[in-house]
Amino acid sequence: MIRYALVCAQAHPFEAWFSSSADFDAQAERGLVECPLCASREVRKQIMAPAVAGTRNAQPPAPPAELAARQKMFMEALGELRRHVETHFENVGDRFAREARDIHEGVSENRGIYGEATAEEVRALREDGIAVAPLPPAAAPRPKTQIN
Ligand SMILES: [Zn+2]
Repeated sequence: MIRYALVCAQAHPFEAWFSSSADFDAQAERGLVECPLCASREVRKQIMAPAVAGTRNAQPPAPPAELAARQKMFMEALGELRRHVETHFENVGDRFAREARDIHEGVSENRGIYGEATAEEVRALREDGIAVAPLPPAAAPRPKTQIN
């Protein structure tokens, strides 16, 4: 079965089911398809736009150089994030899981921490609704020399 969006001569939109496109053509030709609002038998299929989100505003794919530049910016931003965490957060090492839990439960002072946790510990924290995220990798060192 195919559902067609139809429109009559008075521009009333409606929908109807047909077994095939040929079935619609045959029924419309014989005046068997009528508008439920005005009973007009001048019925045709509506022109449909493809139901793809953002088709009209779709941007052309970025050229590889631009993608590489975006990725570089992204990696640099991650590196900045890591530096920020390492500068301002307390390194609790392998006590991370316990410390995160203590902070979550209000036992420990609420502060930014980072450290190491096993996959098992991370899963247990998440199961208890404690949001933890892996720290992004350190940024590659920036080139020291400038070519003039
Ligand atoms: Zn109508």
